[in-house]
Amino acid sequence: MLVMKFGGTSLADRERIDTVVSLVRSRLDRKPVVVCSAHAGVTDLLLQGAHRAAAGEPDLSAVRRREHELLVSLKLSPKLVEDDLERLDQMFRGLALLGELTPRSLDQVAAFGERMSVKAVAAVLRKRRIPATAVQADEAGLVTNGRFGRASPRPEAYTNLARSLRKVKGVPVVTGFIGCDRDGNVTTLGRSGSDYTATIVGRALGVAEVEIWTDVSGVLTADPRTVKDARPVEQLTYAEASELAYYGAKVIHPATIQPAVEKGIPVRILNTLDPTAQGTVIRPPQGRRRPRVTSIASKRGIHLVNIVSGRMLGQSGFMAKVFDAFKRHDVAVDLIATSEVSVTVSVDDTSGLPGVVQDLEAFSKVTVKEGAALVAVIGERMKQASGLAGRVFTAIGEAKVPVLAISYGATKTNLQIVVPEESEKTVVRALHEVLFGDG
Ligand code: ASP
Ligand code: MG
Repeated sequence: MLVMKFGGTSLADRERIDTVVSLVRSRLDRKPVVVCSAHAGVTDLLLQGAHRAAAGEPDLSAVRRREHELLVSLKLSPKLVEDDLERLDQMFRGLALLGELTPRSLDQVAAFGERMSVKAVAAVLRKRRIPATAVQADEAGLVTNGRFGRASPRPEAYTNLARSLRKVKGVPVVTGFIGCDRDGNVTTLGRSGSDYTATIVGRALGVAEVEIWTDVSGVLTADPRTVKDARPVEQLTYAEASELAYYGAKVIHPATIQPAVEKGIPVRILNTLDPTAQGTVIRPPQGRRRPRVTSIASKRGIHLVNIVSGRMLGQSGFMAKVFDAFKRHDVAVDLIATSEVSVTVSVDDTSGLPGVVQDLEAFSKVTVKEGAALVAVIGERMKQASGLAGRVFTAIGEAKVPVLAISYGATKTNLQIVVPEESEKTVVRALHEVLFGDG
């Protein structure tokens, strides 16, 4: 068996959906299970619509127009999604009456993009004589925790999905992105969450491979907008891919790798616009593992929080107190660097940061520096690549960029460097040149 996941851009219009049909047809002998995102732009329209509805302006016309145009171009009847649009219309009006939008209702609305797209894709497949059935993942048992907007699966999700998908007639066409909590409330797995659904379904069925069909030919050695001669990366290990996904290399949703790792399922990133391109395969390390750098990623908008305690030296429990404050306010920490008297952490989602700072100030001196970028050099077993750190820091020094913090974890999959935001591109280019340049 095989999971084929198609992202929003791969389902954007008739032409793209034609490609999807031929790709599914070409793999019928491998028993594909299809996972779909919403058509490009629909989730955004739904989210905007929900916000406007809660502000007193319930208006479904943009969503309705987009869905209808697509269905008409596919020669399908708009009736196919009429029930969904009707429910959405009621929800928008309900939101307008209540005048408020909870994370729970936002997820309920957002889910409709996928609910409708799977119906269209399954219908197109059937029209082209490929038996297919649309499957709503929440109804098929994709049970998650109750974290609206960023849910993750509960253990029973896998057995539920395996049981219900095995019963489906023809090719199952499953909604990405959505699930439900134990009380039956609809949840979503976070933006781009359909990638995550693909590996969840893959793990549930124990498939041979998960294909993520997107609009780029896999992962590159750096962001091509920054580095002109960035090259495709043929293979990545799970650890490398997780690091990369995390650093804004927007190719896959960060949690996607977890379910694949648990069963050692290869995840292949492929391009619907260029289906024969090799793409990138993410899988366990093959054969002898040579130390190597696979890519450079970076993330802007980083805050550096510096926490100083005159008496940290030898004080047990100080770190626990520090991280407890971050936990209390649900702020995730990226890089951590410590000395005897201070701890520096970098944070990218800063919504809870003021609360953290207030708590930390009860027992330490805190400064927050904004406008930093985190640059990560990623590669399995980089530790054995002798002189690597030297080359990296020489290159940054020669570019005359100050290093604000560094971290090099024990697994050495990732060397992280914090620099001023305005130097991000300079640093990425300089590092790409020394690590991947022809010289
Ligand atoms: N439709 C959702 C989004 O736009 C999920 C996905 O596309 O993977 O974020
Ligand atoms: Mg995506």
